[in-house]
Amino acid sequence: MPYQNPRPARNGPGTCPRCGDDVIFCLNAGGNTQMINRERRDYGNQAVRQDQAGRYHVRQLTNERSTLEGSEALHYPHAPTCQNPPARPAARRLSSAKVRFGVRPSWRRG
Ligand SMILES: [Zn+2]
Repeated sequence: MPYQNPRPARNGPGTCPRCGDDVIFCLNAGGNTQMINRERRDYGNQAVRQDQAGRYHVRQLTNERSTLEGSEALHYPHAPTCQNPPARPAARRLSSAKVRFGVRPSWRRG
């Protein structure tokens, strides 16, 4: 091992500590652990793979590498789908009064 983590991050299949959904704890490119939904999703943008040591890694598909490589599988990140997400400071909602869909300017383009 090149270096040792003081606190080994959780890695591999597990459950979300907040909502109990099945997730995979994956190491991302930034060296952080990220929860990925265990169920595969065609519309996911997270490529999950296992290295030879059995550790899970995830990388976000980019324009440069937009397709799966090797044993990667497409998954969806858990955070946006978590049913019991961590509380956020007063999430700002778009006030319906301020959102004006379908309102056209008085002038018209020909
Ligand atoms: Zn969750």
